[in-house]
Amino acid sequence: MQQGLAQELAFVPDWHGDESLYSWVASYHETYGNGSHRDTGILLFGAAHACKERDAPPGISHFVSATGGHLGSLPELLRKRCSIGLFIPFLTPAKRTLFLARVEAANGPGWVATLGMSASGLSPSSHLRYCESCIDEDLANTRLPRWRRPHQLAASWICLEHSRLLKTTVHRSFTWVLPNRSIGEYLQAYPTPAQYEVLLKLSRLAQFAAFQPHLDLGAIRQSALCELRQQGVSSWSHPLSKERLTSWFCASPLAAWLKTAQTPESSLAAGTWIHDLLRGRRGDHPLKWLILWVALFSHEQEASIQRRFSSPWSEPQWDFLGQSSLWIGDPDGLPSDISHVILGAETLADAAQKLGLTVGALRDRLERIGGSGGSFRQGRQKPLHRVQAVNSIHSFIASRPGCTLRDIHRECKAAVSWLRANSPEDFAAATQKLQADSRKQMRLF
Ligand SMILES: [Zn+2]
Repeated sequence: MQQGLAQELAFVPDWHGDESLYSWVASYHETYGNGSHRDTGILLFGAAHACKERDAPPGISHFVSATGGHLGSLPELLRKRCSIGLFIPFLTPAKRTLFLARVEAANGPGWVATLGMSASGLSPSSHLRYCESCIDEDLANTRLPRWRRPHQLAASWICLEHSRLLKTTVHRSFTWVLPNRSIGEYLQAYPTPAQYEVLLKLSRLAQFAAFQPHLDLGAIRQSALCELRQQGVSSWSHPLSKERLTSWFCASPLAAWLKTAQTPESSLAAGTWIHDLLRGRRGDHPLKWLILWVALFSHEQEASIQRRFSSPWSEPQWDFLGQSSLWIGDPDGLPSDISHVILGAETLADAAQKLGLTVGALRDRLERIGGSGGSFRQGRQKPLHRVQAVNSIHSFIASRPGCTLRDIHRECKAAVSWLRANSPEDFAAATQKLQADSRKQMRLF
C-alpha cells in the first residue's frame, strides 16, 4: 500500500559499486534511518513493508521521485539494480511492450507477476546471497559491506571474483539488513571439481544474459533442440521424449549438484521440466533456460556458450515441425528430405504447409542459407524435375519390355513434354534404345 507523495531526500548517497537496490536501501537505513524499517519503507517506497520484496521492492516509482532520479529511472533500476532485471531480456517482444507499458503503474500485482514469470513454480528467491571474501574486502575498504547485484541473479551461485560458492541468507524476519559473515549458510553441497566448472559457466552466463538487450527464446529453443539431436537425446523421426530428456539431464554434474540444494531450485534436479520448457508450455523461467543451456553446451568454452545464447543463428540450423532439428550438412544447405519437400511442392506456400511453418518463416529460413524462397526453388527445381521425368520413363520401359517409342509418348505424356521442352538431350538418352529400334523398323519397311 503506497502512502503519500514522495518527498525528495535532502541527500542522495551514490551507488556503492555493483550493489543492488535492496543493498542501497539497507545502507541508507543503517546510516540515515531512524531505526524503523517501516519508516524507511514509507520514506523511500511509500510502502511500509517494502523490505519484504528483496529482489525488487514495490513502489520503485516513489523511490525515483524520492531520489530525484539521481540513481536512475524506474526501468534502469529494475534492469541494472534488481535481480529480476535478468527476466527482462527473456521477454518476448509482445510481453516486453506490455511490461514497459505497465512499468510506471505497476504497484499492484508485484514485479514477478508483471513480468509474467509467476507460473514457473519457482517462487522468486528472496534469499540474498553473498561471498565471504567479498565481505572481508568491503570491510577492509569501507565500513559497510554490500549485497552485490551479480550474486543475486538466478543461476549465479559462484563469486566470479573469488571463485567460491556463495552463502545464502535465510531471513527469519523482514528488515533492511546488510550482509555479515555469519548471516548466511551454505545451502548446497560444496561442488566437486566437475560441478564447479559447470557452475562457473552458469554464473557467467547469468551475468552475460542480464546485460543482453534481448534474447530470442524461439531461436534458443530451436538451437537447444538441435543440440539434443546432435547428442542423440532426440532423433529426427521421433518426438521429444520426456523420459529420455530426464535421464540425459539427471546424468549431468549440474543435476547432481542441484539435488543437494536446500532451496526451491532443487526441484529442477529431476529434469522433468525440460520437456515442457522446450514445448513452450507454461512455466518459462530464465533460470531454466540458463541451466538447460549450460547442461547442453558444458563441453564448450565460455565465450562460445555465451555467443550461442545471444545469437543462436550464428550456427546454421533447421527446425522441422518443432520435433527436432538438423544441422545443415549437405551442399544445398538443407537435409535432403526437407529439400525434397520444398522442391517437390507446387508452391512455396504448399511446402511451408507440409513443413508446418508459415510462408514467411520458410522464406526467412531459406534466406538465412543464402537464397530467397523463389530463387531457391528456381535454382534447384529443374534438376529435380529432370530426374523425376527421366526416372518415370525408365520405370515405364522396365515395366513394359518390348514397348515402343510411341508407347512412351502415349503413356508418359507429362515426362516427355517436360523433357522435350527443357532437356531434349535427356529425353534422347532415356529413350536411346527405343529410338534405335524404331529406326531399325523404319529401315525394314
Ligand atoms: Zn567474492
